[in-house]
Amino acid sequence: MGAEMTDRSRNMADLLHIFDKLGFDALPEALIANLESDKENLLKAIRNDIGNCKRCKLHTGRTNIVFGEGDPNTRLMFVGEGPGADEDATGRPFVGRAGKVLESLINKMGFRREDVYIANIVKCRPPGNREPEEDEIAACRGFIERQIESIAPDAIMTLGNVSTKTLLSTDKTIGQMRGDFYDYNGIKVMPTYHPSYFLRNPSKKVFTWNDAIKVLNYLGIEVISIKRKD
Ligand code: SF4
Repeated sequence: MGAEMTDRSRNMADLLHIFDKLGFDALPEALIANLESDKENLLKAIRNDIGNCKRCKLHTGRTNIVFGEGDPNTRLMFVGEGPGADEDATGRPFVGRAGKVLESLINKMGFRREDVYIANIVKCRPPGNREPEEDEIAACRGFIERQIESIAPDAIMTLGNVSTKTLLSTDKTIGQMRGDFYDYNGIKVMPTYHPSYFLRNPSKKVFTWNDAIKVLNYLGIEVISIKRKD
C-alpha cells in the first residue's frame, strides 16, 4: 500500500514537472477534471469491493456499512475509529452528538461538512460502542488505506486513539501524540482528540482548535473564525 502511494505521488509530481517544463503554469483543466472523476471512481470501486462485507465479526451486529462521505477532491480528511448507533442507523459517519461537535470544528475551520472527507477505521459498529478490536481493525484497515490513497489529501486529522494508532503504527496515546504533525505515506497527519471526548470534557476543545489551527496554517488557509466560542 505504501509503495503504491509513493508511486501515485511520484506520478503526479512527474506530471507537474513535465507540464512546468512545457511552460504551463498549471495542469490543463481537462486533465484536472479527469483526475477528479478518477478519485470518485476509485472510491466507488472501494465501496464495491466492500460489498456486503463479512470479513470480520462486526458484520453480525450492523444495520448499515458506514463507508465515509465528503468531497473526494478535498485537501483535508478526518478519520475516526468506527460508527456509533446513529451512524449505524443512517449509514453516514459522525451524525450523532459527537458528529455535531466535529461539524462545529469543521465549520469553525472555515469549511462546510461536504468540503472535507470523513471516514472511520472500521466500517461497522462495534457492539455497545466499544473500541474495535485488533482482528477487526486488521480486517478493515485496507479500506481506509485505499480511501486515503484515492483521495490523496494534503492533511489528515486523526480523531482519537484508534485511528491515530492504526495509521501511524504507534502505541502512544492521543494525549502524547496530539498537537504535532506526523507522516503517513507523504501526507501530513495531525492527531487530535475524538469529538466524543468533548461531550465529557468541553473545556478541552481548545486543544483540538489549536491542532486545527496548525492544520490550517499548513494548508495555507487563513484562520478567520478564531474568536468564535464553540
Ligand atoms: S468492519 Fe470492515 S471488515 Fe468488518 S465486516 Fe465491516 S466492512 Fe467488513
